[in-house]
Amino acid sequence: MKTYWVETYGCQMNLSDSELMEGILAADGYTRVSAAEEADVILVNTCAVRQHAEQRVLGRVAELVRVKRQRPGTLIGVCGCMAQRLGAKLIERAEYVDMVIGPDAYRSLPQLIERAECNGGAVVEIELNPAENYEGLELRRHSPVSAWIPVQRGCNYGCTFCIVPHTRGPEKNREPLAILQEITGLAQQGITEFTLLGQTVNSYAYDGWDFPSLLRAVGRLPGVRRVRFTSPHPKDLTRKLVEAMAEEEAICPHLHLPVQSGSNRVLKRMARRYTREEYLAKVDTLRQRIPHIALTTDIIVGFPGEDESDFEATLDLLRTVRYDDAFTFRYSPREGTPATRMKEDWFVPEHVAQGRLERLIATVREIAAEKNLAQVGRTAEVLIEKRARRGNLLQARTDTNKVVLIPGPDEWIGRYLKVALTGTSGATFTGFPIET
Ligand code: SF4
Repeated sequence: MKTYWVETYGCQMNLSDSELMEGILAADGYTRVSAAEEADVILVNTCAVRQHAEQRVLGRVAELVRVKRQRPGTLIGVCGCMAQRLGAKLIERAEYVDMVIGPDAYRSLPQLIERAECNGGAVVEIELNPAENYEGLELRRHSPVSAWIPVQRGCNYGCTFCIVPHTRGPEKNREPLAILQEITGLAQQGITEFTLLGQTVNSYAYDGWDFPSLLRAVGRLPGVRRVRFTSPHPKDLTRKLVEAMAEEEAICPHLHLPVQSGSNRVLKRMARRYTREEYLAKVDTLRQRIPHIALTTDIIVGFPGEDESDFEATLDLLRTVRYDDAFTFRYSPREGTPATRMKEDWFVPEHVAQGRLERLIATVREIAAEKNLAQVGRTAEVLIEKRARRGNLLQARTDTNKVVLIPGPDEWIGRYLKVALTGTSGATFTGFPIET
């Protein structure tokens, strides 16, 4: 019996790709084991968006050498965006890696493993394939409650800080009927919550279908109770999409809308293709049509050329929008991206960027805590996802994407319950079922 172990770093797209790789291996007769130490094949699915993430992965891969020593013959594969970015250079930095597999090469995973077994040397497969959408392959999903549905791969935008267009290639969209068929099958198995995934998911277009029409069609499928999507690009947040969100009951009132900066100068240098004013106008439209919508975002500080007034503009935008939460990052130069070629004296010293990041995080947390505190005492419908890691509680989620921890038995997993929100730690809630 052949065995595998997959570790995942990075975004939801990577988590979904890992499910895809697991599906491909399972179809080839592999069994999943519960620890890397027991596996014949170890795959590490990686992210290249920040230097820090890459270093973490390299550290982890170095640790895995121990497994190879204990179990000679174990193969280590590095997959995903970092594999694509570094290619054969990865082998120079980590000679114990047996396979380097880019995001478009997963279909041939069994053959690549075979080649690595026979080879003696490392196998590198990083060709980008504009036709590869992984149609017809079954993912091995772990949640009986929610499913990620990739509807798009790659990206046609060229934000100057971002490595993704290099590692995943141009945008390619899946056939809508295949998407609807996949979701129908999963809904028949009892899954009720679906998250449509794409790098700029709302730029989706296929044969006359646009993203709002896909979203409406998904929301109307029998058995589908909640639909989410991530990540939309603000430029493609059209009136039509807002209307679909407002009108379709199944579409959750939560949007993760990456803004990156509140300064027009910085947005222009980032090539984000919208201004602060345009972004804020879209937020207004969303809130007019969906008043209880929860908004989250991504923000980068310390981008080349960002001065104190630009940073103040970002803080001001935060206070204007009052996000429910935000992922905050210090700019990380990625080799090959246009931002790395900007004027040398534009680069923000590390201690300045770090100081801004800390102020940004404090502001995000303060607003999020205020907003969450205002929810305490209210009731909400939650979907019970799984047993929480700590405290013998169940982890549940509201339609606005807030995590709620409640007491209850495992049999409740997969059910929708009304809960009273009894407290908040600032980020997550505690709750109590008021109707079972
Ligand atoms: S839209 Fe910009 S940030 Fe998002 S994946 Fe594409 S290039 Fe990167």
